[in-house]
Order: sequence, then C-alpha cells, then structure tokens
Amino acid sequence: MLIAVTGASGSIGKTAVPFLLNNKEHTCRLLLRDSKPNRKLVAKLKNRYSQNVEVIFGDVSDPVCCRKLVEDTDFVLHLAAVIPPKADHDEAVAWKTNLNGTENLVNAIIESGNTARLIFFSTVAVYGHRGEQHHWGRVGDPLMPSVFDAYGASKVRAERFILESELKHWIILRETGVLYDNLMMNNISDGLMFQTPVNVFIEWVTANDTARLLDGIISSPADPDFWNGIYNIGGGISCRQTGFETYDDGFKLIGGSAKKMFEPNWHNQRNFHCFWFSDSDILEERFHFRREGTKDFWDAFAKKHWIYSLGRLVPAGLLKSLLFHPLLKNSNAPRYWVESGNEARITAVYGSREKYDQIPGSWDQVDLVCEREGYEETKIHKAEYDLDHGYDESKPDAELELSDMQKAAAFRGGSVLSDSMQTGDLKTKLKWQCHNGHIFESSPYTILKAGHWCPVCCSPKEEWNYDELSKHIPFFAQIWYDTHEPEENYLYSIDETGQTSVRKVSEQ
Ligand SMILES: [Zn+2]
Repeated sequence: MLIAVTGASGSIGKTAVPFLLNNKEHTCRLLLRDSKPNRKLVAKLKNRYSQNVEVIFGDVSDPVCCRKLVEDTDFVLHLAAVIPPKADHDEAVAWKTNLNGTENLVNAIIESGNTARLIFFSTVAVYGHRGEQHHWGRVGDPLMPSVFDAYGASKVRAERFILESELKHWIILRETGVLYDNLMMNNISDGLMFQTPVNVFIEWVTANDTARLLDGIISSPADPDFWNGIYNIGGGISCRQTGFETYDDGFKLIGGSAKKMFEPNWHNQRNFHCFWFSDSDILEERFHFRREGTKDFWDAFAKKHWIYSLGRLVPAGLLKSLLFHPLLKNSNAPRYWVESGNEARITAVYGSREKYDQIPGSWDQVDLVCEREGYEETKIHKAEYDLDHGYDESKPDAELELSDMQKAAAFRGGSVLSDSMQTGDLKTKLKWQCHNGHIFESSPYTILKAGHWCPVCCSPKEEWNYDELSKHIPFFAQIWYDTHEPEENYLYSIDETGQTSVRKVSEQ
C-alpha cells in the first residue's frame, strides 16, 4: 500500500505517519517543505522505517510536486494546512496552501488516472460559532465559518472543490480540536488562546486516536457505502467539555486554575467554532479508534511533561503576569483588539464595546455552563437538539426527489431551477438559485448532505455578510440569532494586507 502524505510534520501528521508505518505493508511518500526541522524528521523516519519512507521536498501549492506525489499511490492523505494562529497572521498563505494546494492535489489525482483515494482533512471551523442553544452539530448543518477566519473559509472552498470535482474516491473528515503533544507550548505563544470562549462546547479528539482512525480507514477494504462522504471526527462523550474546563485541565498541570490565571473579559464571547457532535459515533462504530478521553490525555501529558509541574513552585499571580499578561498584547488577542480600538474585531467577538464592558469583572458573577446542575447529563445527545436541514430526513436517500430539493432550497431562501431529477441520484448536479439571484450547479449531496449553499454569497473570503444572509436564509437564521441581534446588520471585510473593517449595511 503506497500512501502519499501531505502535512507529515503537522500536529496530526507527526503522530499518524509513524502509526501507519508500523504496519510493514505500508509505504509512505511524504511531501514536505525543505527545512531543517523537516530534514531532521525525515532522517528520524528513515532511520526507523528505512525503505518504507519516500520523500519529496516541495510544496503542495506547486502542481508539479503534487503530480510527483500522487503517482501510482493507493491513498492520498491530505493533512497539510495552514491553521491558526499562522492562518490568522497571514491569510494569503492560508488560502494558497489550503485552497490552491487542495485544487492541485485533486487535479493531480484525476490526471494520474483517478485511482488514488483522497482522504481530505477539513475542520470543525467550517461550521462557525455555536451558542449554547444549539451546541450539538452534525454533517449537513450550515457552514458559516467565523468572521475573519481564513482557515475555516478556505476549507469551505476546498471542500466544495472536492465535492464538485471528477474525483472517483474521496472522503472529507471534519476534524475537531486536537489534543496533541505540543499543545501547551503552542498555545502559550499566541493571543489565539483567548479566542476560545469559556462557555463554548468542544468535543476534543486526541492525535493518537486520529492516527488510529486513519490507519483503520486505510487498512479496511474499500466500502462504497463509506467512500465519497463527509464525516465529523470527535472523541465522543469522554471528550466533551467546555472551553473553561479545557483551560482548567491545562492549568492544573502547573498548579493553577482557569479562575486564577484568567480574567473573565479576556476571551471571545462569540465568533469561534466547535460543538458536541451528534454524529461522531459513525466513525467509531466502523473503526473503533477511540482509546483516550480528555482525562487520559492530560494524565499522560503530565507524566511525560513533568517539567510543567515545576510551575507549582511559582505563585499563581506571578505565573499569570509572566505567561499571560504579555500575551494579551499579541495582535491575535481579543484584549489587544479592545485596547487598540479595532471596531471590526470588537463587533465580531462581542457585538459592541458596550457589550464588552458588561462582561462581569469577577468569576463569581460569570454563569459557567460546566458548573450548572445537571451539566454532565447534557453530554448525552437527544434528537431534539438537531438543526433543521430543510427536508424530510426520515426519507431514505434513495427516495429523495425533486420536491425534497425544492423544500431544501426554499429553506435556504432560494429555489431549484432544474425541472427534473432522477429519484435518489444525489450525485448529478442540479441548477439552483440563491435569494440574490446567483445561479449555480451543485449536486444534491453538496447542498442537502454537506451543508454548502450559494458559492458566491455563502462562501466568504473578503467579506462576511451573515447578518444580511440570515434575514433571507432560515437555514442560517436558526443558529445565527443565538449569538447575534437581528438589528446588527454588519458587513465585515478584510483586505489583502489583513486590515479589517466593519460597517452597517444601511450605510451603503
Ligand atoms: Zn448567492
């Protein structure tokens, strides 16, 4: 089995590649940027797995490298992505790698005979923010990547490119937040750490479990029912937490706690992502990859990185000043946006400066979801939490017909222009129209099952217009108003230099 891998040096790749290579029947061909750390990684892998490792030094945004990479492979595991915080500081490079890189790979697979199976890593960030009213989610839910999130937005377009391509075999895995070895170190070096709201719901997964899942997918006989579909990866009930609990778990290692280390107004209140998955068990039932909950992860982490426990010797107040006060000044920290008067960011994450000022100054006054009575019981999913997808989901796929497409389109504020459809054919593209009059061709799968809609107005890159869109698209409105007021009416923009702006749409 020859497996092409991009992103072998990333947080998942570093765990997944050795995992795959432990099976002697697997050979991995890695595409890596030529750098000192990557050369070191290659030397280490070659030393251990010798002839089962092939390497191409290059870049996924170079079509020639992609063609070399995929030639004669059985699988293409596309993990390479520019993720936050780097994606927040350099949007252009995020778009180039995440979208153009994926386009190059897909084209290369098709040109090389279209036999390799693409495993594409997408992200929970494509769904955008969820308030606690709708903190359960699943594939098919609306895709509303957060305002200014180049990572989520570029993955939405990359997904769509795959969905609408001529690729024969693909899967899209929407990965949740990953617990991996360098998590602590990477997080205490950027203001990004404050972008996780304390009351956001997160279903984590560990890098080890993700690697086991990938090995399971690659080692299983190809099942047509499984391929050409989208799946959410999450660790299940033992990985369901809120943002606050995650901070608290991390700080326990250094003898602190979230309440000792943070102030309540340091974090985003909205405009993040993550929720608990009602459908992450689908992959578990097929591949039995879950071994680690959040507690197992932190226990193992504490044993391996005992050095963090030395933090206990330092008073919590001093740690707070040493570690976090400098981070508040980082250009990716919400506090920095407040201090520097970045109205676009303030509006996106708080609603307004007045709303920011209303955040309580002490933790005693903050309503933390995880401290509420009965919180643990809410970790069991109930169907009543599910969002409406705008058509009768009790119908088997084989029975879906044009009238279902019309219902789904109407729920998205638009219509179907095609006047016929083969019942049950979710693959052949139909013609659709959005409320703004854009006409586009997409498969029923892309619209009804994957959560995509108009590629012009619902696929942000320079502008985020969800306040306006939600007035016309009930599919969006069902979540947007959990954390936004109907009178907000903002249009958010970012230019090529990364400059953000916001204006009231009525001022146009
Ligand atoms: Zn449109």
